[in-house]
Amino acid sequence: MTDRQSTHAPGCWGWGPRHYECALREIELLVAEWKRVTAAQGEAKARAERLAEALRHQRWCRTCAEDGWESCEEGRKNDALLRDQEEGK
Ligand SMILES: [Zn+2]
Ligand SMILES: [Zn+2]
Repeated sequence: MTDRQSTHAPGCWGWGPRHYECALREIELLVAEWKRVTAAQGEAKARAERLAEALRHQRWCRTCAEDGWESCEEGRKNDALLRDQEEGK
């Protein structure tokens, strides 16, 4: 148990003052992870908003309803968007 303080292992940042540097590293990792997650969340949210917008358009656009989405510039864009979503892009 003597060397527990001087060797490093996963989670050693919680062992005490000797692992201060490890704790700093752990914090850096957590911050990086947080940034990644936040960015992914932002992307997912933006995508959800785009899709909601596309679905709203599809439901309310007269041109799309009467002449078909092919005749509507917005409708064509939305169709491409929804297709991307189905393909999981
Ligand atoms: Zn350590
Ligand atoms: Zn339309």
